[in-house]
Amino acid sequence: MQLHDTAQGRVVEFAVGPEVTMYVCGITPYDSTHLGHANTYLAYDLLIRRLEDRGHTVKMVRNVTDVDDSILPKARELEIDFLELAAREMKRFHGDMEALDARPPFAEPRATESIDAMVAIIDALVAGGHTYAVDGITYFDVSTFPEFGKLSGYSEEQMVAFARERGGNPDDERQRNPLDFILWQPSAADEPSWETPHGPGRPGWHIECSAMSYAALGVTLDLHGGGSDLIFPHHECEIAQSESAHNEPFVRHWMHCGMVAYEGTKMSKSLGNLVFVSELTKTHDPRAIRLALLGHHYRDDWEWFDGDINVADEQLELLIRAAGATGGPDPEPFVARVRAALDADLDAPEAKAALLELATAIDAAADGGSDTGVAAAGLRVAAGIVGIDLSA
Ligand SMILES: [Zn+2]
Repeated sequence: MQLHDTAQGRVVEFAVGPEVTMYVCGITPYDSTHLGHANTYLAYDLLIRRLEDRGHTVKMVRNVTDVDDSILPKARELEIDFLELAAREMKRFHGDMEALDARPPFAEPRATESIDAMVAIIDALVAGGHTYAVDGITYFDVSTFPEFGKLSGYSEEQMVAFARERGGNPDDERQRNPLDFILWQPSAADEPSWETPHGPGRPGWHIECSAMSYAALGVTLDLHGGGSDLIFPHHECEIAQSESAHNEPFVRHWMHCGMVAYEGTKMSKSLGNLVFVSELTKTHDPRAIRLALLGHHYRDDWEWFDGDINVADEQLELLIRAAGATGGPDPEPFVARVRAALDADLDAPEAKAALLELATAIDAAADGGSDTGVAAAGLRVAAGIVGIDLSA
């Protein structure tokens, strides 16, 4: 199977054993699941399904960031406990993922339940001389990790710019280097705080994924993923922490998903133009959402248009009709095309095209054949591989 690796910047053989370990950065449960989330998590779901189809077992771990710089202000604004907010939004997220028929994770660790594991890694980093502390904040010292930047391939200037834009603190004068990042920090008066050897406080953004992936899957992961906006700083910082703490490679293969915009503008909370999965499923079959997303390659940035769901509704109707019909062509070449497309860097649009062509051919032959639904059975198999259940 061929898959693009972010670190190498090209499509490579995805060489894995019978059991595949996968870690996908999960949600911060402070708002509902939007199409960007669905796009990312269904891309990994597609990979999992094809790996299972090829005979692998997959252990996918997806964390929950239930304490960070997004959830705490939101809980403050709503005047509720941050864990109550997290519980509410996690329930919604699980409902949405279930509706979309995404494979459940092997483990779903929560940051607030993994503090000991984070402290253990910070201990190792302190012992290894990778940190310094100022004003109760423990920083990672990037000068001790010369390979910093190897995932993104960004220049130092680009990294500083992205750090400023994406939740880093490059202008914090207490830092020795603008790219140093926080491992542990004091909490504000109304924020949760844990007692640790590094002082009272709460974790920095990146440490949880190094800790939780290690606890659930061990030192080296077969594949690590998330949205492309996590390449820097989040994943770059995870590499620095994990490899400095364990002196072993952290990840064999990096897979990142593109961003979804909305009708020409960035989809963002601040612009108020998020398209929520729970809104779409009120009036549309969740399989149509999946079908719409399959029309885009996982690495592409693309735009959602309101009409997209109506097109997908019609395509789903065609698939459902064909899956219950008799007659039609030999389905094997179509099923083989679906598998081959997925093995070529998860080419979902090509897999979807093969599926729709088979359905169209069955539909055109509608009940004209004397077979007992061989083509329809093939269609159901092919649809199942891409996560569209036509068995009902
Ligand atoms: Zn992460």
